[in-house]
Order: sequence, then structure tokens, then C-alpha cells
Amino acid sequence: MCFICDRIEMIKNGSNPYFVKELDTGYVVIGDNQHFYGYTLFLYKNHSKTELFQLEIPERSKFLEEMSVVAEAVSKAFGAEKMNYELLGNGEAHLHWHLFPRRKGDIENYGNNGAGPVWWYPMEKMYSDSNKPSDKELSKMKNLLLNELEKLI
Ligand SMILES: [Zn+2]
Repeated sequence: MCFICDRIEMIKNGSNPYFVKELDTGYVVIGDNQHFYGYTLFLYKNHSKTELFQLEIPERSKFLEEMSVVAEAVSKAFGAEKMNYELLGNGEAHLHWHLFPRRKGDIENYGNNGAGPVWWYPMEKMYSDSNKPSDKELSKMKNLLLNELEKLI
């Protein structure tokens, strides 16, 4: 089973502390590390397909539409200057969107003089234990995001 399928199993049995909301095509979860404050993922519900183009068009449209709504809620909840939307699948092929709120200076001077994708920020800094939210911070973030999502859905 893949890492994302494991996390979805945890949502289903009520043991995933990062879970925010279930939509028709996927699950909204807060990211484990929060260097990019508000980093959220939207996990497709199953592992049956691994490319967007493999989804039937109505399902694909719904998945994209829901991802856009989640991105808007993330932007409003956490005050993004710009949103980044990424569906990569190199680590785990399970369809999942990385939704990053971006702010000036958030990759310091890495990348092109501080401009560029989150992945140009050093992995050890991005995934440092020091930027994992405490239980209290996580609870606050989930409430902020859920509140914005419910205004949009
Ligand atoms: Zn999976």
C-alpha cells in the first residue's frame, strides 16, 4: 500500500490528525511540515488511476474544480500572496495536489534570487521537525481552513 493510501486509511478510521474535510473526489489534509504556512494537500480518493488524463472527463473536471475551491480556501485562510498548485507523483504516484501559499522571501535567497518553486528550498529545511505544527497550532489551522471551505461549498 502507498503512503497516501495509508493516510487515507487513517482518515477512514479516525486516526489522521491532519484531516480537514472530505469532498466528492478527495480528502483535504494539512501538510505535515509548515515552512510554507498553510501548506495543504488534496488527496484523490483512490489509487485506481495515476494520471489526471486517465480520469473520465466528468470525474476529472470535478477533481480539478474541487482542487480550485480548496486552493481558494487555503489562500483566504492563511493569507497567501500567490498560490502554487502542484500534482507531481514522483514520490507516490497516487494523485494528490500540493497547495502551497507563497509569500515574498519564503525561499530566502535560494532559487533565482529568492524566486522559484518551493522545491528549490533545501529539503532539510522544508522538512525540518522545527516546522511541524504543535497539536494546538494544527487544531487552529484546521479550524481556519474548514471555516473558509464551508463558505465556498
Ligand atoms: Zn495510494
